[in-house]
Amino acid sequence: MKRKLAVIKGDGIGPEVMGEAIRVLNAVSEKYSHVFEYEEVLAGGISIDTFGVPLTEEAVKACKASDAVLLGAVGGPKWETLPGDLRPERALLGLRKELGCFANIRPAVLYDELSEACPLKDGISGKGIDLVVMRELTGGIYFGKRGRIQGVDEQAYDTEIYSRSEVERIAVKAFEIAGLRRKKVTSIDKANVLESSRLWRETVHEIAKRYPDIICEDLLVDNAAMQLVKNPAQFDVMLASNMFGDILSDEAAMITGSIGMLASASVGGTHPYLYEPAHGSAPDIAGMDKANPLATILCAAMMLRLSFGLEKEAASMENAVKAVLQKGFATADIAFAGSTVIGTRAMGQKVIENL
Ligand code: NAD
Repeated sequence: MKRKLAVIKGDGIGPEVMGEAIRVLNAVSEKYSHVFEYEEVLAGGISIDTFGVPLTEEAVKACKASDAVLLGAVGGPKWETLPGDLRPERALLGLRKELGCFANIRPAVLYDELSEACPLKDGISGKGIDLVVMRELTGGIYFGKRGRIQGVDEQAYDTEIYSRSEVERIAVKAFEIAGLRRKKVTSIDKANVLESSRLWRETVHEIAKRYPDIICEDLLVDNAAMQLVKNPAQFDVMLASNMFGDILSDEAAMITGSIGMLASASVGGTHPYLYEPAHGSAPDIAGMDKANPLATILCAAMMLRLSFGLEKEAASMENAVKAVLQKGFATADIAFAGSTVIGTRAMGQKVIENL
């Protein structure tokens, strides 16, 4: 079956890391006899330079017509003085909105070879970290009513608001993802205080009944923050609201080491989904063959699994990444004493050789 991918290389290191992800995908397609057709789409700074705006209607149309969207990174100093609406990062918000992406999935995996980058004690990290944070993206306090009330003592307020249907649709995604993993969903809330959390919890429990083979547990957000550093091995899928997920996904990222290793997917009710590494365009190392392409390669693996159901192929990419690290190869950002430091392109090649 032919699959159509919209590829947004973007700015800075974006084209370099995406170039390697595509090379690895091509090797996978050859090995497993798949056909991926790529359409390059401009967005971000390069779109500003070419069309005067960060995201054109044509770009949105091309992405919507694809089966999945892969994005490198956008932005850089060249465009930093532009007004907010014209900044490259607007392309990301615009795309997520246009594609109806209401959930962000961010895996946090600690590779044995990168354990030195983990700030936790060996006794804790040694049990392994392999979890995903699933964060609601389009609701909650970041989108609720907010304002200021003038007076002798000025006040400001933000409103956490969720509808049952908003919680239902992300809970379904969380259980689906858990079904592909270790079959456990930990739903994070603050139900001892917040009414919105009580609705969240009730709704998650309702959805859980549809998935009897998946363990569902609740955890208050303050305890979740502690448990993440005390015993991260207990988690499989952590399901959280926009704000709680924002905070916990960064905490989870921190305990697994380098930003150059973090993949993410933004998903919605319908395809295409959007796959993007967690890092930015890293202008400080752009064009120097120093960028770590593994986050983008791992994004491509997530795409194979979540958009196309190609589990074997996704696992083969992830195992190739592990094998390369095991053999001691590393880009500068993840190198430790004893690593053989290689560049972006060589890292892509090593992954291909280990497929
Ligand atoms: P950044 O993630 O680009 O860089 C932070 C640090 O991490 C830098 O030292 C960089 O060299 C390093 N780094 C990042 N990715 C790396 C990789 N793959 N391999 C090796 N090292 C890597 O964050 P920043 O410097 O705050 O932002 C730079 C630009 O990227 C800004 O314009 C920002 O707005 C934009 N940005 C874009 C996205 C995105 O496209 N999703 C996300 C964050 C920031």
